[in-house]
Amino acid sequence: MTAKGKTAIITGSTSGIGLGIAEALAGAGADVVLNSFTERDEDHALAASLAEKHGRHGGTVRYIRADMSKPDDCRALIDRAGACDILVNNAGIQHVAPIDEFPVAKWDAIVAVNMSSAFHTTAAALPMMRRAGWGRVINVASAHGMRASPYKAAYVAAKHGLVGMTKVVALETAQEPITVNAICPGYVLTPLVEAQIPDTMKEYGLSREEVVRDVLLKRQPSGEFATVEQIGGIALFLCSGVAAQITGAAISVDGGWTAL
Ligand code: NAD
Repeated sequence: MTAKGKTAIITGSTSGIGLGIAEALAGAGADVVLNSFTERDEDHALAASLAEKHGRHGGTVRYIRADMSKPDDCRALIDRAGACDILVNNAGIQHVAPIDEFPVAKWDAIVAVNMSSAFHTTAAALPMMRRAGWGRVINVASAHGMRASPYKAAYVAAKHGLVGMTKVVALETAQEPITVNAICPGYVLTPLVEAQIPDTMKEYGLSREEVVRDVLLKRQPSGEFATVEQIGGIALFLCSGVAAQITGAAISVDGGWTAL
């Protein structure tokens, strides 16, 4: 069994890791649904460009707008796609502040997008997977689903919650041809991480290189970022037949961070 001919919905997939996973699945011949909360010409153009790039592998690529902070949108995304064999819960946002200064609206948004969205999409997608007789749920959590950092209360809480929910749904589907796993990246140089660099430079009076080496990659023993291509490859592996007995796992892709 492979991703070929399967419908794959990847939330938050117009950039970064989600787009990397979409590229990997489209390259394997899946019918890919890209998603974000915007409805711009660029979003549909991105889908068209992926379709052109990977069309020879037999799959299609569509873009469906849905705001993953809204429960109804999460469920409507799955309904509108019409099928869901592979669900990748990837949409995620970040905000950094001490807990006593953490804006309530930011807490609510991070918990909604990074954790609760996966509850809603999974609940909507599982009946489709059961009818199809096959399914894969891949939750993009984080090393922060297993370890903490100061000032990231909402993100760390949401990612720990996502890893916990991964295990629960894996147990609920254990005797079915459905697997449910989390991928836990360390730092990957995407727009989400890029956005943290200028503030950190200002706060500590560091250069960009110093922030990357001494702040971001300080936790990553390999001293290197993970790449979106590596995360895409692992998602594809989880869709393959040899991964059929991997369920309820939290797979670290963090250059040794969580070995510390
Ligand atoms: P990114 O900012 O490049 O991409 C995030 C995507 O989510 C974008 O397509 C954005 O449009 C979309 N998105 C944001 N809010 C949304 C909403 N309300 N509804 C729908 N889509 C929404 O970020 P990334 O680094 O690629 O992160 C992707 C996932 O990987 C996140 O869950 C993040 O927590 C996780 N992650 C990232 C890193 C890293 O170092 N980059 C490490 C560990 C985990």
